[in-house]
Amino acid sequence: MNRQKLLSSIPAVNDFLAAEQADRIINKYSRTRFLKTLRSELEKIRQIILAEKAEMEETDIDCQELKVGEILISVSKRLEAEDNEGLKRVINAGGIILHTNLGRSLLPENALNKVKEIAAEYSSLEFDLENGERGYRYKRTKQLLRDLTGAESAVVVNNNAAAVMLVLKTIAEDREVIIARGEMVEIGGSFRIPEVMESSGAILKEVGSTNKVYLKDYLTAVGEKTGALLKVHTSNYRIQGFTHSVSAEEMVKAAHQHDLVVIEDLGSGILFDLSEYGLPEEPTVKEEILAGIDILTFSGDKLLGGPQAGIIVGREKFISQIEQHPLMRALRVDKMTLAALEETLKLYYNLEEALQKIPTLKILTEKAEKAKIRAEKLKAKIEAPAGVKFTIIESEAKVGGGAYPLNTFKSYALAVETGDLSPEKFVYKLRQLKTPVISRIQNELIIFDLKTVFEHQLEELAISINKVLAEVF
Ligand SMILES: *Cc1c(COP(=O)(O)O)cnc(C)c1O
Repeated sequence: MNRQKLLSSIPAVNDFLAAEQADRIINKYSRTRFLKTLRSELEKIRQIILAEKAEMEETDIDCQELKVGEILISVSKRLEAEDNEGLKRVINAGGIILHTNLGRSLLPENALNKVKEIAAEYSSLEFDLENGERGYRYKRTKQLLRDLTGAESAVVVNNNAAAVMLVLKTIAEDREVIIARGEMVEIGGSFRIPEVMESSGAILKEVGSTNKVYLKDYLTAVGEKTGALLKVHTSNYRIQGFTHSVSAEEMVKAAHQHDLVVIEDLGSGILFDLSEYGLPEEPTVKEEILAGIDILTFSGDKLLGGPQAGIIVGREKFISQIEQHPLMRALRVDKMTLAALEETLKLYYNLEEALQKIPTLKILTEKAEKAKIRAEKLKAKIEAPAGVKFTIIESEAKVGGGAYPLNTFKSYALAVETGDLSPEKFVYKLRQLKTPVISRIQNELIIFDLKTVFEHQLEELAISINKVLAEVF
Protein backbone atom coordinates (compact mmCIF):
# COMPACT_ATOMS: atom_id res chain seq x y z
CA MET A 1 0.00 0.00 0.00
CA ASN A 2 1.38 3.44 -0.76
CA ARG A 3 1.94 6.23 1.65
CA GLN A 4 -1.08 8.38 0.77
CA LYS A 5 -3.39 5.48 0.96
CA LEU A 6 -1.99 4.42 4.30
CA LEU A 7 -2.33 7.90 5.74
CA SER A 8 -5.93 8.16 4.68
CA SER A 9 -6.74 4.76 6.14
CA ILE A 10 -5.83 5.82 9.68
CA PRO A 11 -9.16 5.75 11.53
CA ALA A 12 -10.64 9.03 12.81
CA VAL A 13 -11.03 9.82 16.50
CA ASN A 14 -14.78 9.30 16.26
CA ASP A 15 -14.25 5.76 15.01
CA PHE A 16 -12.38 5.03 18.22
CA LEU A 17 -14.98 6.69 20.42
CA ALA A 18 -17.64 4.49 18.89
CA ALA A 19 -15.81 1.33 19.92
CA GLU A 20 -16.95 -0.51 23.02
CA GLN A 21 -13.35 -1.07 24.05
CA ALA A 22 -12.90 2.71 24.26
CA ASP A 23 -15.62 3.01 26.90
CA ARG A 24 -13.72 0.65 29.16
CA ILE A 25 -10.50 2.64 28.77
CA ILE A 26 -12.29 5.94 29.36
CA ASN A 27 -13.95 4.58 32.49
CA LYS A 28 -10.62 3.50 33.87
CA TYR A 29 -8.41 6.43 32.90
CA SER A 30 -10.74 9.40 32.06
CA ARG A 31 -11.72 10.79 28.68
CA THR A 32 -9.05 13.48 28.76
CA ARG A 33 -6.21 11.01 29.24
CA PHE A 34 -7.70 8.65 26.68
CA LEU A 35 -7.94 11.34 23.99
CA LYS A 36 -4.49 12.71 24.73
CA THR A 37 -2.87 9.29 24.48
CA LEU A 38 -4.91 8.32 21.43
CA ARG A 39 -3.89 11.49 19.57
CA SER A 40 -0.28 10.92 20.45
CA GLU A 41 -0.51 7.29 19.29
CA LEU A 42 -2.09 8.36 15.97
CA GLU A 43 0.58 11.01 15.49
CA LYS A 44 3.24 8.37 16.08
CA ILE A 45 1.73 6.19 13.38
CA ARG A 46 1.58 9.15 11.00
CA GLN A 47 5.23 9.96 11.62
CA ILE A 48 6.27 6.37 10.98
CA ILE A 49 4.44 6.40 7.63
CA LEU A 50 5.92 9.75 6.65
CA ALA A 51 9.40 8.67 7.62
CA GLU A 52 9.38 5.85 5.08
CA LYS A 53 11.63 6.61 2.14
CA ALA A 54 9.80 8.50 -0.63
CA GLU A 55 10.81 6.04 -3.32
CA MET A 56 9.50 3.11 -1.36
CA GLU A 57 6.07 1.99 -2.24
CA GLU A 58 5.85 -0.60 0.48
CA THR A 59 6.03 0.32 4.15
CA ASP A 60 6.53 -1.66 7.32
CA ILE A 61 3.11 -0.68 8.52
CA ASP A 62 0.37 -2.93 7.30
CA CYS A 63 -3.35 -2.48 7.49
CA GLN A 64 -3.60 -4.73 10.50
CA GLU A 65 -1.81 -2.13 12.59
CA LEU A 66 -4.25 0.54 11.55
CA LYS A 67 -7.28 -1.21 12.93
CA VAL A 68 -9.24 0.49 15.70
CA GLY A 69 -8.94 -2.50 18.00
CA GLU A 70 -5.17 -2.78 17.62
CA ILE A 71 -4.59 0.90 18.22
CA LEU A 72 -6.81 0.84 21.30
CA ILE A 73 -4.71 -1.97 22.73
CA SER A 74 -1.60 0.18 22.32
CA VAL A 75 -3.38 3.14 23.95
CA SER A 76 -4.46 0.99 26.86
CA LYS A 77 -0.92 -0.36 27.31
CA ARG A 78 0.54 3.13 27.28
CA LEU A 79 -1.90 4.33 29.94
CA GLU A 80 -1.18 1.31 32.07
CA ALA A 81 2.57 1.87 31.78
CA GLU A 82 2.07 5.52 32.73
CA ASP A 83 0.19 4.55 35.87
CA ASN A 84 2.83 2.06 36.75
CA GLU A 85 5.43 4.82 37.05
CA GLY A 86 6.07 6.77 40.22
CA LEU A 87 6.82 5.57 43.71
CA LYS A 88 6.49 1.88 44.40
CA ARG A 89 6.88 -0.32 47.38
CA VAL A 90 9.83 -2.68 46.83
CA ILE A 91 11.17 -5.74 48.61
CA ASN A 92 14.72 -4.99 49.66
CA ALA A 93 16.69 -8.23 49.52
CA GLY A 94 19.93 -6.36 48.81
CA GLY A 95 21.06 -6.32 52.42
CA ILE A 96 21.63 -2.58 52.79
CA ILE A 97 19.65 -1.39 55.78
CA LEU A 98 19.59 2.37 55.18
CA HIS A 99 19.65 2.58 51.41
CA THR A 100 19.20 6.20 50.32
CA ASN A 101 17.86 5.08 46.93
CA LEU A 102 15.33 2.80 48.62
CA GLY A 103 13.96 5.42 50.98
CA ARG A 104 16.29 4.96 53.98
CA SER A 105 14.57 4.24 57.30
CA LEU A 106 11.17 2.61 57.68
CA LEU A 107 8.77 4.40 59.96
CA PRO A 108 7.57 2.85 63.21
CA GLU A 109 3.91 1.92 63.27
CA ASN A 110 2.91 4.53 65.84
CA ALA A 111 4.49 7.18 63.60
CA LEU A 112 2.54 5.94 60.58
CA ASN A 113 -0.72 6.00 62.52
CA LYS A 114 -0.04 9.50 63.73
CA VAL A 115 0.76 10.72 60.21
CA LYS A 116 -2.55 9.35 59.02
CA GLU A 117 -4.45 10.94 61.88
CA ILE A 118 -2.80 14.34 61.51
CA ALA A 119 -2.81 14.48 57.71
CA ALA A 120 -6.42 13.39 57.25
CA GLU A 121 -7.93 16.02 59.52
CA TYR A 122 -7.21 19.51 60.86
CA SER A 123 -4.56 19.65 63.52
CA SER A 124 -3.03 21.94 66.12
CA LEU A 125 0.09 22.34 63.97
CA GLU A 126 0.48 26.03 64.75
CA PHE A 127 -2.42 26.61 67.07
CA ASP A 128 -2.15 27.18 70.78
CA LEU A 129 -5.12 25.38 72.31
CA GLU A 130 -4.57 27.09 75.67
CA ASN A 131 -5.24 30.64 74.54
CA GLY A 132 -6.74 30.06 71.09
CA GLU A 133 -4.02 31.99 69.32
CA ARG A 134 -1.29 31.20 66.89
CA GLY A 135 0.97 28.52 68.31
CA TYR A 136 4.46 27.26 67.68
CA ARG A 137 5.08 24.47 65.17
CA TYR A 138 8.13 22.95 66.86
CA LYS A 139 6.99 23.16 70.49
CA ARG A 140 6.73 19.44 71.23
CA THR A 141 9.66 18.37 69.02
CA LYS A 142 11.88 20.91 70.72
CA GLN A 143 10.93 19.56 74.12
CA LEU A 144 11.55 15.95 73.06
CA LEU A 145 14.91 16.75 71.51
CA ARG A 146 16.01 18.74 74.57
CA ASP A 147 15.12 15.81 76.76
CA LEU A 148 16.77 13.16 74.65
CA THR A 149 19.97 14.99 73.70
CA GLY A 150 20.58 17.26 76.67
CA ALA A 151 20.78 20.28 74.35
CA GLU A 152 19.35 23.65 75.40
CA SER A 153 17.23 23.94 72.30
CA ALA A 154 16.42 22.38 68.96
CA VAL A 155 14.72 22.96 65.65
CA VAL A 156 13.99 20.85 62.59
CA VAL A 157 14.34 21.46 58.85
CA ASN A 158 13.85 19.45 55.69
CA ASN A 159 17.02 17.34 55.79
CA ASN A 160 20.53 17.41 57.17
CA ALA A 161 21.97 19.09 54.09
CA ALA A 162 19.50 21.93 54.65
CA ALA A 163 20.41 21.98 58.32
CA VAL A 164 24.14 22.38 57.58
CA MET A 165 23.45 25.11 55.06
CA LEU A 166 21.06 27.03 57.30
CA VAL A 167 23.40 26.83 60.28
CA LEU A 168 26.37 28.11 58.29
CA LYS A 169 24.32 30.86 56.66
CA THR A 170 23.05 32.09 60.00
CA ILE A 171 26.31 31.82 61.91
CA ALA A 172 29.05 32.30 59.33
CA GLU A 173 27.84 34.00 56.15
CA ASP A 174 30.75 35.97 54.64
CA ARG A 175 32.98 34.69 57.39
CA GLU A 176 35.60 31.98 57.46
CA VAL A 177 34.76 28.50 58.64
CA ILE A 178 37.71 26.34 59.58
CA ILE A 179 37.46 22.69 58.61
CA ALA A 180 39.93 19.79 58.49
CA ARG A 181 40.90 18.62 54.98
CA GLY A 182 40.11 15.02 55.94
CA GLU A 183 36.51 16.00 56.73
CA MET A 184 35.58 17.57 53.41
CA VAL A 185 33.41 14.63 52.47
CA GLU A 186 31.15 13.85 49.60
CA ILE A 187 27.90 12.48 50.97
CA GLY A 188 26.43 10.89 47.87
CA GLY A 189 24.59 12.10 44.82
CA SER A 190 27.71 14.18 44.05
CA PHE A 191 26.80 16.26 47.06
CA ARG A 192 29.84 17.64 48.80
CA ILE A 193 30.27 19.35 52.13
CA PRO A 194 32.53 22.05 50.64
CA GLU A 195 29.86 22.91 48.09
CA VAL A 196 27.07 23.09 50.66
CA MET A 197 29.26 25.34 52.74
CA GLU A 198 30.05 27.64 49.85
CA SER A 199 26.41 27.91 48.85
CA SER A 200 25.71 29.21 52.34
CA GLY A 201 28.08 32.10 51.76
CA ALA A 202 30.62 30.87 54.31
CA ILE A 203 34.27 30.95 53.25
CA LEU A 204 36.09 27.65 53.60
CA LYS A 205 39.39 27.59 55.34
CA GLU A 206 40.94 24.16 55.10
CA VAL A 207 43.52 23.04 57.61
CA GLY A 208 45.68 20.00 58.24
CA SER A 209 46.45 17.28 55.74
CA THR A 210 44.20 14.53 54.45
CA ASN A 211 45.11 12.12 57.21
CA LYS A 212 46.17 14.39 60.07
CA VAL A 213 44.91 17.50 61.75
CA TYR A 214 45.99 18.96 65.09
CA LEU A 215 44.49 21.60 67.34
CA LYS A 216 47.36 23.94 66.45
CA ASP A 217 46.31 23.77 62.79
CA TYR A 218 42.89 25.16 63.69
CA LEU A 219 44.34 27.78 66.03
CA THR A 220 46.89 29.02 63.49
CA ALA A 221 44.05 29.54 61.02
CA VAL A 222 41.96 31.62 63.42
CA GLY A 223 41.84 35.26 62.41
CA GLU A 224 39.63 38.32 62.35
CA LYS A 225 37.35 36.82 59.72
CA THR A 226 36.80 33.50 61.48
CA GLY A 227 33.13 32.75 62.03
CA ALA A 228 33.17 29.17 63.29
CA LEU A 229 35.01 25.87 63.50
CA LEU A 230 33.28 23.00 61.78
CA LYS A 231 33.60 19.32 62.55
CA VAL A 232 32.12 16.88 60.05
CA HIS A 233 31.57 13.25 60.86
CA THR A 234 33.21 11.34 58.02
CA SER A 235 30.16 9.12 57.89
CA ASN A 236 30.76 7.17 54.75
CA TYR A 237 34.51 6.61 54.84
CA ARG A 238 37.33 6.24 57.31
CA ILE A 239 40.93 7.26 57.28
CA GLN A 240 42.89 4.49 58.90
CA GLY A 241 46.49 4.04 59.83
CA PHE A 242 48.72 7.10 60.31
CA THR A 243 46.03 9.52 61.40
CA HIS A 244 45.20 12.22 63.89
CA SER A 245 42.08 14.25 64.49
CA VAL A 246 40.91 16.68 67.13
CA SER A 247 38.31 15.59 69.64
CA ALA A 248 35.16 17.62 70.24
CA GLU A 249 36.33 18.49 73.78
CA GLU A 250 39.70 19.82 72.64
CA MET A 251 38.19 21.81 69.84
CA VAL A 252 35.46 23.32 72.01
CA LYS A 253 37.90 24.30 74.74
CA ALA A 254 40.19 26.13 72.37
CA ALA A 255 37.40 27.69 70.34
CA HIS A 256 35.59 29.06 73.36
CA GLN A 257 38.78 30.74 74.55
CA HIS A 258 38.62 32.71 71.31
CA ASP A 259 34.86 33.26 71.51
CA LEU A 260 34.34 31.03 68.50
CA VAL A 261 31.39 28.79 67.75
CA VAL A 262 31.88 25.07 67.14
CA ILE A 263 29.47 23.43 64.71
CA GLU A 264 29.32 19.71 64.12
CA ASP A 265 27.64 17.80 61.31
CA LEU A 266 27.17 14.38 62.84
CA GLY A 267 25.57 12.87 59.73
CA SER A 268 23.66 9.88 60.98
CA GLY A 269 23.45 10.81 64.63
CA ILE A 270 22.58 8.18 67.21
CA LEU A 271 20.72 8.98 70.42
CA PHE A 272 22.19 6.17 72.46
CA ASP A 273 25.20 3.91 72.36
CA LEU A 274 24.56 0.88 70.19
CA SER A 275 27.87 -0.80 70.97
CA GLU A 276 26.34 -3.14 73.52
CA TYR A 277 24.28 -4.56 70.65
CA GLY A 278 27.38 -5.43 68.70
CA LEU A 279 27.72 -2.21 66.75
CA PRO A 280 30.96 -0.25 66.63
CA GLU A 281 31.30 2.67 68.99
CA GLU A 282 30.12 6.00 67.61
CA PRO A 283 29.72 9.31 69.39
CA THR A 284 26.11 9.91 70.44
CA VAL A 285 24.40 13.27 70.05
CA LYS A 286 24.29 13.59 73.83
CA GLU A 287 28.04 12.99 74.19
CA GLU A 288 28.84 15.66 71.63
CA ILE A 289 26.52 18.16 73.33
CA LEU A 290 28.13 17.28 76.65
CA ALA A 291 31.55 17.88 75.09
CA GLY A 292 30.36 21.44 74.46
CA ILE A 293 29.53 21.48 70.74
CA ASP A 294 27.49 24.66 70.22
CA ILE A 295 25.38 23.56 67.26
CA LEU A 296 25.00 20.02 66.04
CA THR A 297 23.08 18.66 63.05
CA PHE A 298 22.01 15.16 62.03
CA SER A 299 19.50 13.34 59.81
CA GLY A 300 16.06 12.15 60.86
CA ASP A 301 15.98 9.16 58.50
CA LYS A 302 19.35 7.55 59.03
CA LEU A 303 20.10 5.69 62.27
CA LEU A 304 17.46 7.66 64.16
CA GLY A 305 14.91 5.68 62.17
CA GLY A 306 12.37 8.47 61.65
CA PRO A 307 11.18 10.59 58.72
CA GLN A 308 13.45 12.60 56.43
CA ALA A 309 14.47 15.64 58.44
CA GLY A 310 17.46 17.73 59.42
CA ILE A 311 17.67 18.05 63.18
CA ILE A 312 19.55 20.98 64.67
CA VAL A 313 20.29 20.94 68.40
CA GLY A 314 22.45 23.22 70.50
CA ARG A 315 22.64 26.41 72.48
CA GLU A 316 19.46 28.42 72.83
CA LYS A 317 21.20 31.60 71.71
CA PHE A 318 22.18 30.12 68.32
CA ILE A 319 19.05 28.07 67.75
CA SER A 320 16.87 31.16 68.16
CA GLN A 321 19.08 33.04 65.68
CA ILE A 322 18.68 30.16 63.24
CA GLU A 323 14.92 30.14 63.74
CA GLN A 324 14.72 33.82 62.89
CA HIS A 325 16.62 33.47 59.63
CA PRO A 326 14.30 34.03 56.63
CA LEU A 327 15.50 30.76 55.07
CA MET A 328 14.02 28.91 58.03
CA ARG A 329 10.58 29.49 56.55
CA ALA A 330 11.70 27.97 53.24
CA LEU A 331 13.19 24.92 54.91
CA ARG A 332 10.60 24.16 57.56
CA VAL A 333 9.02 20.73 57.74
CA ASP A 334 5.38 19.88 57.23
CA LYS A 335 2.86 18.34 59.63
CA MET A 336 3.41 14.79 58.38
CA THR A 337 7.12 14.96 59.08
CA LEU A 338 6.52 16.48 62.49
CA ALA A 339 3.89 13.91 63.39
CA ALA A 340 6.24 11.06 62.43
CA LEU A 341 9.25 12.62 64.13
CA GLU A 342 7.43 13.31 67.41
CA GLU A 343 6.20 9.74 67.59
CA THR A 344 9.59 8.26 66.69
CA LEU A 345 11.35 10.38 69.30
CA LYS A 346 8.82 9.41 71.99
CA LEU A 347 9.88 5.78 71.58
CA TYR A 348 13.40 6.67 72.68
CA TYR A 349 12.37 7.21 76.31
CA ASN A 350 12.40 3.44 76.62
CA LEU A 351 15.38 1.89 74.85
CA GLU A 352 14.01 -1.63 74.78
CA GLU A 353 10.84 -0.30 73.23
CA ALA A 354 12.85 1.74 70.70
CA LEU A 355 14.80 -1.36 69.63
CA GLN A 356 11.59 -3.29 69.09
CA LYS A 357 9.39 -0.63 67.55
CA ILE A 358 11.78 1.35 65.36
CA PRO A 359 12.30 -0.90 62.31
CA THR A 360 15.78 0.45 61.51
CA LEU A 361 17.02 -0.32 65.01
CA LYS A 362 15.25 -3.65 65.09
CA ILE A 363 16.88 -4.80 61.84
CA LEU A 364 20.24 -3.48 62.95
CA THR A 365 20.28 -5.25 66.29
CA GLU A 366 18.53 -8.47 65.32
CA LYS A 367 20.62 -11.64 65.66
CA ALA A 368 21.85 -13.18 62.41
CA GLU A 369 20.19 -16.48 63.30
CA LYS A 370 16.80 -14.88 62.75
CA ALA A 371 17.79 -14.07 59.17
CA LYS A 372 18.91 -17.67 58.78
CA ILE A 373 15.49 -18.93 59.81
CA ARG A 374 13.87 -16.62 57.26
CA ALA A 375 16.33 -17.83 54.61
CA GLU A 376 15.32 -21.43 55.31
CA LYS A 377 11.62 -20.58 55.18
CA LEU A 378 12.13 -18.82 51.87
CA LYS A 379 14.12 -21.71 50.43
CA ALA A 380 11.35 -24.14 51.35
CA LYS A 381 8.88 -22.12 49.28
CA ILE A 382 11.00 -22.03 46.11
CA GLU A 383 10.17 -24.28 43.20
CA ALA A 384 13.63 -24.81 41.76
CA PRO A 385 13.77 -25.78 38.09
CA ALA A 386 16.35 -28.33 36.96
CA GLY A 387 19.83 -26.84 36.66
CA VAL A 388 19.24 -24.02 39.13
CA LYS A 389 20.82 -24.43 42.52
CA PHE A 390 19.62 -22.75 45.72
CA THR A 391 21.80 -22.64 48.80
CA ILE A 392 21.76 -20.75 52.06
CA ILE A 393 24.98 -18.88 52.60
CA GLU A 394 26.39 -16.57 55.22
CA SER A 395 26.26 -13.03 53.95
CA GLU A 396 27.35 -9.55 54.92
CA ALA A 397 24.70 -6.88 55.29
CA LYS A 398 25.61 -3.21 55.47
CA VAL A 399 24.14 -0.21 57.26
CA GLY A 400 24.42 2.25 54.38
CA GLY A 401 23.17 5.84 54.65
CA GLY A 402 26.67 6.93 55.51
CA ALA A 403 27.04 5.06 58.78
CA TYR A 404 29.52 2.44 59.96
CA PRO A 405 31.19 2.39 56.53
CA LEU A 406 33.72 -0.30 57.37
CA ASN A 407 31.44 -2.65 59.21
CA THR A 408 29.36 -5.41 57.83
CA PHE A 409 26.77 -7.39 59.73
CA LYS A 410 26.64 -11.10 59.67
CA SER A 411 23.50 -12.18 57.90
CA TYR A 412 22.14 -15.05 55.86
CA ALA A 413 21.10 -15.13 52.24
CA LEU A 414 19.56 -17.39 49.70
CA ALA A 415 22.08 -17.74 46.87
CA VAL A 416 21.02 -18.79 43.40
CA GLU A 417 23.32 -20.38 40.86
CA THR A 418 21.77 -19.89 37.45
CA GLY A 419 24.07 -22.10 35.38
CA ASP A 420 24.32 -20.87 31.79
CA LEU A 421 21.80 -18.12 32.23
CA SER A 422 23.12 -14.67 33.03
CA PRO A 423 22.15 -13.54 36.53
CA GLU A 424 21.63 -10.01 35.14
CA LYS A 425 18.56 -11.11 33.22
CA PHE A 426 17.12 -12.67 36.33
CA VAL A 427 17.64 -9.66 38.58
CA TYR A 428 16.34 -7.38 35.83
CA LYS A 429 13.09 -9.32 35.66
CA LEU A 430 12.77 -9.20 39.43
CA ARG A 431 12.98 -5.42 39.26
CA GLN A 432 10.21 -5.23 36.66
CA LEU A 433 7.62 -6.96 38.84
CA LYS A 434 4.59 -5.07 40.11
CA THR A 435 6.26 -5.06 43.50
CA PRO A 436 9.90 -5.02 42.45
CA VAL A 437 12.44 -7.18 44.24
CA ILE A 438 15.91 -5.73 44.77
CA SER A 439 18.65 -8.35 44.99
CA ARG A 440 22.36 -8.29 44.33
CA ILE A 441 24.85 -10.25 42.24
CA GLN A 442 28.02 -11.46 43.85
CA ASN A 443 30.53 -13.85 42.26
CA GLU A 444 27.99 -14.78 39.57
CA LEU A 445 25.46 -15.70 42.26
CA ILE A 446 22.15 -13.97 42.81
CA ILE A 447 21.93 -13.08 46.47
CA PHE A 448 18.73 -12.53 48.42
CA ASP A 449 19.90 -11.18 51.77
CA LEU A 450 17.32 -11.83 54.48
CA LYS A 451 18.59 -9.15 56.87
CA THR A 452 16.32 -6.57 55.24
CA VAL A 453 13.41 -8.87 54.40
CA PHE A 454 10.57 -9.15 56.89
CA GLU A 455 8.84 -12.34 57.92
CA HIS A 456 5.55 -11.10 56.41
CA GLN A 457 7.24 -10.58 53.02
CA LEU A 458 8.50 -14.16 52.64
CA GLU A 459 5.41 -15.48 50.92
CA GLU A 460 5.30 -12.59 48.45
CA LEU A 461 9.04 -12.83 47.79
CA ALA A 462 8.80 -16.57 47.11
CA ILE A 463 5.91 -16.06 44.70
CA SER A 464 7.91 -13.39 42.86
CA ILE A 465 11.03 -15.54 42.61
CA ASN A 466 8.99 -18.54 41.42
CA LYS A 467 7.25 -16.39 38.84
CA VAL A 468 10.53 -15.15 37.36
CA LEU A 469 12.05 -18.63 37.50
CA ALA A 470 9.12 -19.97 35.50
CA GLU A 471 9.51 -17.20 32.92
CA VAL A 472 13.26 -17.47 32.53
CA PHE A 473 13.71 -21.23 32.57
C1 LIG B 1 23.99 11.94 55.19
C2 LIG B 1 24.82 13.09 55.57
C3 LIG B 1 24.42 14.40 55.24
C4 LIG B 1 23.16 14.67 54.46
O1 LIG B 1 22.04 14.38 55.19
P1 LIG B 1 20.59 14.37 54.49
O2 LIG B 1 19.65 14.15 55.61
O3 LIG B 1 20.63 13.28 53.48
O4 LIG B 1 20.43 15.70 53.85
C5 LIG B 1 25.22 15.44 55.63
N1 LIG B 1 26.37 15.22 56.29
C6 LIG B 1 26.80 13.99 56.62
C7 LIG B 1 28.08 13.83 57.35
C8 LIG B 1 26.02 12.88 56.27
O5 LIG B 1 26.43 11.65 56.60
